[in-house]
Amino acid sequence: MTTIGIIGPGAVGTGIAHALKGCSIHVDLLGKRDETLIFHEYATKETFPITVKALNTTDMQYDWLIIAVKTTQLDAILADVNRCIHKDTRIILAQNGYGQHEKIKHAYVYPAVVYISGQKEGQHITHFRDYRLQIQKDTFTEALQQNCAQSQLTLELKPHIEQQIWYKLLVNLGINSITALSRDTAQVLKQASMAKLCRQLIEEGRKVAEAEGIHFDTTITTDIMHIYAGYPDDMGTSMYYDLMHHRPLEIENIQGYILRQAQKHHLDVPYLTMAHTLLQYEHQKAMRL
Ligand code: NAP
Repeated sequence: MTTIGIIGPGAVGTGIAHALKGCSIHVDLLGKRDETLIFHEYATKETFPITVKALNTTDMQYDWLIIAVKTTQLDAILADVNRCIHKDTRIILAQNGYGQHEKIKHAYVYPAVVYISGQKEGQHITHFRDYRLQIQKDTFTEALQQNCAQSQLTLELKPHIEQQIWYKLLVNLGINSITALSRDTAQVLKQASMAKLCRQLIEEGRKVAEAEGIHFDTTITTDIMHIYAGYPDDMGTSMYYDLMHHRPLEIENIQGYILRQAQKHHLDVPYLTMAHTLLQYEHQKAMRL
């Protein structure tokens, strides 16, 4: 039987574990301690208990290891990751952002694009929408996809995953930066000057993607702004909530990653540089708490 370990029993990790229930895969959800969490399905109002095993005591080596901690929490689990893998283990990074795979010294690491929307508060997880992961297509991910076929988890296999990763980076770059820096929810984009600033950020991101060999339609910025326009006014982003709760911000793998690529290509990205500097300042304040 295929074995999967999922590190990080938060919104994404419990969502994946819940979605995999009932299929013929051994799944362990691994967290800071042995505990039982409550998983709420927002659409159906159903609740399910979900069992978490303590990561630091597990001695199992998995066929697949899915990492679903925040990018700011990755350094703290690297030693555990090494204990949970063998030389053929495939690691999936179910996180936002890009570049964090470089921290994991292993032959098979798959950065994924996560479309699972949820929120964790204490022992309770609310799942709002979607159980989708996009990952690179190869013979191993095709086999995993077959294994998961009877489950609620949709694995979308992509021939060039970097295209999807950059798309999500641009989506996160605009709305995460603007909501966090303005300390306001999606309604902030109703103000023309804020919407203009958001467009400028996405445009700079697109320029960097282009330099990286990732091409989008010329309408990409407008398309992303249309997506944001469909968000409820009171919807925050993860970066907004992290900033409001004085938690570390996942900037190094979103704004920071794009900025590093811009610097590599000697591109001038003044809006991104300013946003990164201000967010970095907020991140450092949270780290001192
Ligand atoms: P989350 O709810 O904060 O979950 C992270 C989990 O990791 C928490 O349960 C946390 O435990 C656990 N954790 C942290 N450090 C750990 C350690 N050292 N050992 C064991 N467990 C540890 O975060 P999330 O929302 O699932 O986000 C995960 C990633 O997916 C992020 O990169 C996020 O940006 C991305 N993402 C999230 C969503 C969403 O809707 N939530 C959507 C798309 C992408 P404690 O709770 O006990 O601290």
